[in-house]
Amino acid sequence: MNIVYDRIAIIGVGLIGASIARAAREYGAANVIALYDANPAVRQRARDLGLGEVFDDPEKAVAKAELVVLCVPVGAMAGAISACSRSLKIGAIVTDVGSVKQAVVDAVSAVLPSYVYFVPGHPIAGTEQSGPDAGFATLFHNRWHILTPLPGDEREAYAAAVDQVAEFWRALGANVDLMDPQRHDVVLAVTSHLPHLIAFNIVAMAEDLENVTESEVVKYSASGFRDFTRIAASDPTMWRDVFLNNRDAVLEILGRFSEDLAALQRAIRWGEGDTLYSLFDRARRMRREVIEAGQDTPAPNWGREN
Ligand code: NAP
Repeated sequence: MNIVYDRIAIIGVGLIGASIARAAREYGAANVIALYDANPAVRQRARDLGLGEVFDDPEKAVAKAELVVLCVPVGAMAGAISACSRSLKIGAIVTDVGSVKQAVVDAVSAVLPSYVYFVPGHPIAGTEQSGPDAGFATLFHNRWHILTPLPGDEREAYAAAVDQVAEFWRALGANVDLMDPQRHDVVLAVTSHLPHLIAFNIVAMAEDLENVTESEVVKYSASGFRDFTRIAASDPTMWRDVFLNNRDAVLEILGRFSEDLAALQRAIRWGEGDTLYSLFDRARRMRREVIEAGQDTPAPNWGREN
């Protein structure tokens, strides 16, 4: 199958929306790309960048679209689709890119008309930057895209809609996996949400420390701290919404993390070198697995020159 949509609509033209627009055009996945963003300055920038046909009215943006992709923060998904749902085409497919799935499934399903198909999704790709200028066509290359189809939707055409969304993402260069929404939320709490929480916390804590001035933290940041600052530079609205909407899974994983951290604290206090060594060694092997899975570069220090 090599689907080319005649018309897609992207709601929210930030890093992810702009990347989808660029990739869809570059790889021929859609003939017409309609765009809408609630922020007038973003709409103007999307016009200047030539990302597609930009509309000031969300209903006009989605009218006639075969595929609508919601690329707004998780907490804004239901509002974004409600603002245009009256003009969705019969049989249109709605998908999203939200970093949390069960909460989006619940919120969006509650407001969607019954004559469209909702196929939730999440690209495991991104950067710490936001806004339309941050988007680029190769963002999804060789990255996973997780679809979490609705288990309760037993309409015959629903399975075909899931296949079509999968094919769209493959056209943008992604590999597609299917997962249950709750499982997605637990897995992502481990691989993404907790690492971000830790980075936000370390960076904010360093800023707070009274006995280490901020200028010294910045000056000596190449010793490790700067790698946390990249993650901590991510968009605060997006991440506030992730934690508010994946509360249970994050609290569960955070509980486990806190226990393990307390065990490390104890090993340091009692000079248990073997415990420290074996944990660090296990962690180091995990890095090799990430590289072997093609999810990062083997170049030392991510290929940076210094
Ligand atoms: P972004 O760069 O901040 O862009 C989001 C855009 O949506 C902003 O221009 C925002 O306008 C606009 N918006 C907010 N509410 C809206 C509404 N109701 N209707 C229309 N537009 C609205 O965010 P992003 O990084 O692309 O993230 C978008 C989604 O992708 C989020 O759900 C996030 O969880 C998911 N995601 C992000 C990444 C990542 O690395 N960034 C990776 C995977 C998935 P304002 O700026 O005025 O609010």
